[in-house]
Amino acid sequence: MKNKHSEFPHLLDPLDLGFITLKNRILMGSMHTGLEEEKDGFHRMAVYYAARAQGGVGLIVTGGVAPNRSGWVAPFSLRLAKSSQVKEHRTITDAVHESGGKICMQILHAGRYGYHPLCVAPTAIKAPMNRFKPRALSGRRVRSTINDYIRCASLAMEAGYDGVEIMGSEGYLINQFIAKKTNLREDEWGGDFVSRIRFALEIVKGVRKAVGEKCIIIYRLSMLDLVKNGSTWDEIVLLAKEIEKAGATIINTGIGWHEARIPTIATMVPRAGFAWVTKRLMGEVKVPLVTTNRINMPHVAEAVLADGSADMVSMARPFLADPDWTKKAKDGRVDEINTCIGCNQACLDHIFSRKTATCLVNPRACNETTKVFVKTGVQKRVAVVGAGPAGLSCAVTAAARGHKVILFEASMKIGGQFRLARMIPGKDEFEETLRYYSRQLKLHKVEVKRNTSPAPSELKGFDEIVISSGVKPRAITIKGGEKDCVSLYSDVLSGEKSVGSRVAIIGAGGIGFDMAAFLLHDQGGPETVEDFMAQWGVDMSYAEAGGLGAPHKDKPAREIYLLQRKKTKPGAGLGKTTGWIHRSLLKKNGVKILNGVEYLAVNDKGLLINHFGKEMQLEVDDIVVCAGQVSVLDLKNELDKEKMEYHLIGGALKAGELDAKRAIAQGMEVADQI
Ligand code: FAD
Ligand code: NAP
Ligand code: SF4
Repeated sequence: MKNKHSEFPHLLDPLDLGFITLKNRILMGSMHTGLEEEKDGFHRMAVYYAARAQGGVGLIVTGGVAPNRSGWVAPFSLRLAKSSQVKEHRTITDAVHESGGKICMQILHAGRYGYHPLCVAPTAIKAPMNRFKPRALSGRRVRSTINDYIRCASLAMEAGYDGVEIMGSEGYLINQFIAKKTNLREDEWGGDFVSRIRFALEIVKGVRKAVGEKCIIIYRLSMLDLVKNGSTWDEIVLLAKEIEKAGATIINTGIGWHEARIPTIATMVPRAGFAWVTKRLMGEVKVPLVTTNRINMPHVAEAVLADGSADMVSMARPFLADPDWTKKAKDGRVDEINTCIGCNQACLDHIFSRKTATCLVNPRACNETTKVFVKTGVQKRVAVVGAGPAGLSCAVTAAARGHKVILFEASMKIGGQFRLARMIPGKDEFEETLRYYSRQLKLHKVEVKRNTSPAPSELKGFDEIVISSGVKPRAITIKGGEKDCVSLYSDVLSGEKSVGSRVAIIGAGGIGFDMAAFLLHDQGGPETVEDFMAQWGVDMSYAEAGGLGAPHKDKPAREIYLLQRKKTKPGAGLGKTTGWIHRSLLKKNGVKILNGVEYLAVNDKGLLINHFGKEMQLEVDDIVVCAGQVSVLDLKNELDKEKMEYHLIGGALKAGELDAKRAIAQGMEVADQI
């Protein structure tokens, strides 16, 4: 019986698995955080997972744990292969159970994605993004690997987990056996589809036999490979049926191999953009199906379940952003949810740079034991000047700790540069962060003085002053630069100035790339899931194995040049896991990206440049300057004159290499110390 009184009856409906009942349909998806490799990692993971359990999530799945050494994602990543390793996992399972949660351990064998010389695969074919070539498993090693999975699952049960998730998607080892692309074997483990799925089935059957009936076995099934020579839809249905027969309790959805060149979780993917894939499989099997990817708010999750796309939803990053996501949905406090904006900047980008993950909008994530929230014993009067991400984070944290905070903002609206960022196609999620802070300001009774730039005299009665006056666009000096056709990015994004159909963008940093995407938007950026799939070449009819089709090409709305002076690759500083998407989007739309440029003059024809020693006239109507930013320091300079003390944070502290991750983290850090 669904909870009729809730706003989210499907989402909060318990799920009875026969031997165990999950309290709702919310699964915290597997996410490697890097805590796994930290010195006191198990303690930190225990606190991290327990916080999400206390937040009310129905079932947690841990980051991947290798069943043996060759299955490592990277050297010395977490492995469960011996009894002696069981005890440390107990720290996690005890903490989660004491917090009222349930937790499964993911078993992940990286196969040819293993970034180390011991990596193995069905066939010795190197993965595109790995410099290590895998060794092909012998028939004997295939058998022993299956046994390693089974032993790993048994040890997980000994460690107190409620079950295991067997990672069969995203292009990892099991997926490598299943796909023709990576399995050229001629023995019993290769050849036709039935032989290629034997490895997966033997694992599930063996695990079920070893762990008994009262253990959750989730199988993560690649339902859309997004690589050539992946599985056909008929093969996916057959695999799901066989996996069910082999003993899985739940089937989770996997979308796209890591090497696929289609965005699957980045912020420009429409919300719940891949739920249609799971929906296709609904009714083919009796076990519950979980859908996933870019589900970040309760009404999105509810809609997906209500329209029969799945029985359960999986979210991973949203639980980094807000451990209390479920509780807030249940209590009707959706406006208090700190929403994952899909940026990848502090989670996946950190992991791929070998740093511990955290979250841009929640710097306490994965730092639960180090960045501890403590109420203040002594209430202070705090002035925060500037309501961009840094000031908002500082004001809200200080007030939540118990201080009396006044937030001054020069303009009528809070958000600073984030207000411009949300205008970029695919960055509309940034609006959620502003909604979150607006609500938090009210909740913690921060007095907001809009349209106010305080003079030093007005700040004299405060115990602490925080300057978060941020940045402004850097203007450049160029002959003819005073002409009306030259605009700053802020003028264009705020709608104060419009531009013609031929545009040169000066500066190819994050904002230059965003500006190009913004100017291409006139052609109609992908508004619907169908548009998005067409733009990126995902064939929703699965005519070809793997689900790839030809990307739809529109005539670009504008002719755009994106320019930089450096000779290095433009866009090299973009996000590790998202930069390729920005570069590829611009390339698809014919944006001409030039490095090694010298700006000579703005003239009647447009922009005159020198390109690698050759003069070149760019015939453009407008020139948009995205040449970085400088700190806004008026107030700082005035306070210096008065010899008044203050804290300086965000862009006001340092404009170079500034991003919202640093701004928000610094705001919180200073507020924690006050
Ligand atoms: P700001 O955002 O500049 O805020 C400063 C605030 O202080 C402003 O509201 C200003 O009006 C106010 N102020 C200034 N002086 C005074 C005064 N004397 N009195 C009162 N108020 C004052 N970052 C990312 O991490 N990821 C992204 O994807 C991303 N995309 C972006 C896209 C675009 C198009 C833009 C423009 C920025 C993007 N950023 C992104 C950068 C991000 O927005 C900034 O790093 C962040 O806003 C900096 O925060 P801040 O609080 O330090 O400064
Ligand atoms: P940026 O990344 O530092 O890029 C500035 C660009 O301007 C560079 O291409 C630079 O290249 C050029 N430039 C600098 N000084 C110049 C001058 N005097 N004349 C002409 N060109 C000049 O800065 P940004 O694009 O303004 O971005 C600001 C911050 O916002 C970034 O640090 C980034 O972290 C954040 N952001 C992030 C994202 C994201 O997706 N993660 C998106 C947008 C913004 P040359 O010097 O070689 O010409
Ligand atoms: Fe979401 Fe960005 Fe936080 Fe990652 S860093 S969890 S993508 S908001």
